[in-house]
Amino acid sequence: MTENFLKKDYTAEQAKLKVVWENPHIASICSAMPNMTILQANIDAALNKQRLSENDRQRLEQYAQETAPGYCAGCAHICESAVDLDVPISDILRCSMYAHGYGSRDMALSLFNTLPAGAQENVFKADYSKAEKSCPQKIQIGRVLKRACEDLG
Ligand code: SF4
Repeated sequence: MTENFLKKDYTAEQAKLKVVWENPHIASICSAMPNMTILQANIDAALNKQRLSENDRQRLEQYAQETAPGYCAGCAHICESAVDLDVPISDILRCSMYAHGYGSRDMALSLFNTLPAGAQENVFKADYSKAEKSCPQKIQIGRVLKRACEDLG
């Protein structure tokens, strides 16, 4: 995917920004820009007026589908009500994303350490079969939560 976008003078990350900006259903986004290189890349993407082609959009759509199980959309009302114990699923998945997706262990730990007492214990006792069936992202919730707790706890 990256090579196709590079041929058009933008990176895959810039293409992701562009597809969001071109979507009339999205009013704003919050994009982390922890350094000047990323800030500059985002500015370049904003100034690049070349629109995405239909093929670009299809590529991004396919990429989104293929990587969906690695991204929690934050719809906690779906999965957390399908688990018999109190488990802050989306918060723990966000910790996991900070640690493993963004490489920001400090951010992951600072959120992880605010989880309610007993949450970690519940992670290992809960049954996630119903939650996993209803998750629109098809995340292997139990496996990812346990890995996050073992890593950050
Ligand atoms: S249902 Fe899936 S995507 Fe939504 S918050 Fe729960 S784990 Fe994340």
